[in-house]
Amino acid sequence: MASDLEAQLRAVSLRVTQPRLAVLAALRDHPHVDTATVIALVRANQPTVSHQAVYDVLRTLTDAGLVRRIQPAGATARYEARVGDNHHHVVCRSCGAIADVDCAVGEAPCLTASDDRGFVVDEAEVVYWGTCPGCATDRTAQ
Ligand SMILES: [Zn+2]
Ligand SMILES: [Zn+2]
Ligand SMILES: [Zn+2]
Repeated sequence: MASDLEAQLRAVSLRVTQPRLAVLAALRDHPHVDTATVIALVRANQPTVSHQAVYDVLRTLTDAGLVRRIQPAGATARYEARVGDNHHHVVCRSCGAIADVDCAVGEAPCLTASDDRGFVVDEAEVVYWGTCPGCATDRTAQ
């Protein structure tokens, strides 16, 4: 598993470091977590890694395209290691839970604007909002 993550770093010409491997591993096991959770996950295994180091690693990996940053309106930024497939997210209005929704097309922009107003469109940001199964159950139980 580690060698797989090392290969990902090398593929984008990043040096292999323990904090980078730890962040990638954390995001692979826990998609859509915020920065505080990434820090907690990394420091559970590597207590010597500083908060600042995790911030730096997240920025580096995001810039390199190995990590995707998503920020639904009104929510804190979340990170995930599933990149490159233009998948979308469904977000619970009640508890903020996030789940992946495969893109029917698979590449951006997957929606054609009815009128692009002369812009060269390269992405359609699609977020589905609703109520997750857990919150829907709570609601009917009340
Ligand atoms: Zn919910
Ligand atoms: Zn996702
Ligand atoms: Zn799509």
